[in-house]
Amino acid sequence: MLNIKNLHVKLEDEDKQILKGVDLTVPAGEVHAIMGPNGSGKSTLSYVLSGRDGYEVTEGEASLDEHDLLDMEPEERAAVGLFLAFQYPVEIPGVGNLTFLRTAVNAQRKARGEEELSSGEFLKVVREKAKTLQIDAEMLKRPVNVGFSGGEKKRNEILQMAMLEPKMCILDETDSGLDVDAMRLVAEGVNALRSPERSFLVITHYQRLLDHIKPDVVHIMSNGRIIKTGGPELALEVEKNGYGDLLAEVG
Ligand code: ADP
Ligand code: MG
Ligand code: MG
Repeated sequence: MLNIKNLHVKLEDEDKQILKGVDLTVPAGEVHAIMGPNGSGKSTLSYVLSGRDGYEVTEGEASLDEHDLLDMEPEERAAVGLFLAFQYPVEIPGVGNLTFLRTAVNAQRKARGEEELSSGEFLKVVREKAKTLQIDAEMLKRPVNVGFSGGEKKRNEILQMAMLEPKMCILDETDSGLDVDAMRLVAEGVNALRSPERSFLVITHYQRLLDHIKPDVVHIMSNGRIIKTGGPELALEVEKNGYGDLLAEVG
């Protein structure tokens, strides 16, 4: 379970407070969405949880199960089951996708104190997962993301997620201008990976994505805080009326 309490975050080298007391709990097995106007701090929240440089936590807590995330290096956070999908997947010429995936999986197993997968074991798992996600075997052999279409990059990101078997997946899709097909891919990936032990935090501008993902809970973020929490109907309300009414409610 992800537990965030009273999280305050400022930029490291500027006197700018971005998160101003975020409270959020995502129980195991649930899918939560965060929506909110541009600039409200949604991406900052995902960056801070994943341990990206440049931000300073001035107050509050964030934990995944019994682990204090804020105390850990990014790799340690990944090892205890946190996964952040990259908005802009990097291309790695010269490194085959399979090699990349195997390195990532084995680094994580090592950090967890588990044995590395043999090449045969790894291939078996990756082929199974690729099949479930309808990923072409040919894509596994190509260099990571090089020349991949937007849709292929999305599929690949979801394959990475599937291979790492995270407990808590954070997907920040806010600024990536997802087209309808990419949106469907993300939604199918999330739905295929849903399980009672795994939770998702889906950050999005677009109500449409939530038509396909069907979150258990929707949070609205504005000006560095969660200002309202509700069911999927909250996303529909935003779609219909925009954020104006909600923002006026909280003053
Ligand atoms: P959202 O994802 O909700 O659009 P962000 O987390 O990207 O919001 O940004 C929140 C606010 O913090 C914005 O005003 C943004 O300009 C500012 N901000 C975030 N990161 C930085 C940074 N590295 N440098 C300067 N301003 C930043
Ligand atoms: Mg933004
Ligand atoms: Mg953003």
